[in-house]
Amino acid sequence: MEDKILIVEDNPQNMRLIEMLLKARGFNYLLKAIDGEEALDVATRELPDLIVMDIQLPKLSGLEVTKILRQMPFFSRIPIIALTAYAMKGDRERFLEAGCDAYLPKPLSARELPAMINEMLQCHRSKSGEKK
Ligand code: MN
Repeated sequence: MEDKILIVEDNPQNMRLIEMLLKARGFNYLLKAIDGEEALDVATRELPDLIVMDIQLPKLSGLEVTKILRQMPFFSRIPIIALTAYAMKGDRERFLEAGCDAYLPKPLSARELPAMINEMLQCHRSKSGEKK
């Protein structure tokens, strides 16, 4: 089965960039959400394999969305990669504490995001013992 990836990003240009980067690496099953509420809605309806989560979002922040998802059994171990344009000291700790597995600063590197996604999907699969 193809990996289903949810991209949560309110900036249309960044959304297009992330989509392009992922499609170029063969990730074609992409879901999108442009604010925190939509992210929760799409995530709980579609049950993605991995989430790319912008932190600065309208309605609910990426950290709030992550905290809520982490309380649901399905999402307790789904990889969540946080993205932020305003990386500050202590952010990494804050993001990990909220339940993100990793974070990447913006502007995104074309190589780093797909590489991290591959790595996390493999790691998640081997932990959950799934064969895909
Ligand atoms: Mn944003």
